[in-house]
Amino acid sequence: MSERAAPFFCPYCGDEDLRPNEQGHGAWECAACSRAFQLKFLGLLAPVTSGDSTGGEEI
Ligand SMILES: [Zn+2]
Repeated sequence: MSERAAPFFCPYCGDEDLRPNEQGHGAWECAACSRAFQLKFLGLLAPVTSGDSTGGEEI
């Protein structure tokens, strides 16, 4: 039940040669620039209301 998210490109050099890092969940390392980084799930975005946002409705 892992919630892993695999990046497709290195956020630093843009290379695709990424491999999982042993640091923990969401940790990846780039073989091109030798950088290790970690993805973090921040949360879900608020649902976008269609139409104009002039109403200011509150639930
Ligand atoms: Zn890189």
